[in-house]
Amino acid sequence: MARVMITCPETHTPIYTGLNFDWFSFESIEFCELPLHCPNCGMDHEWRKEEAFLVADGGEG
Ligand SMILES: [Zn+2]
Repeated sequence: MARVMITCPETHTPIYTGLNFDWFSFESIEFCELPLHCPNCGMDHEWRKEEAFLVADGGEG
């Protein structure tokens, strides 16, 4: 599994969205804009799949 991350538009730092996908599932899934409370700047960011990127979490799979 990998962590779904976005980049905070205020601080330009990666934020973990709280979602985990394997790479194949992430490619095939569809979802609309999701709100995320950002721990870096304290604001809520709407994000979409196109903005997201996956980071391996170091676990198996
Ligand atoms: Zn932010």
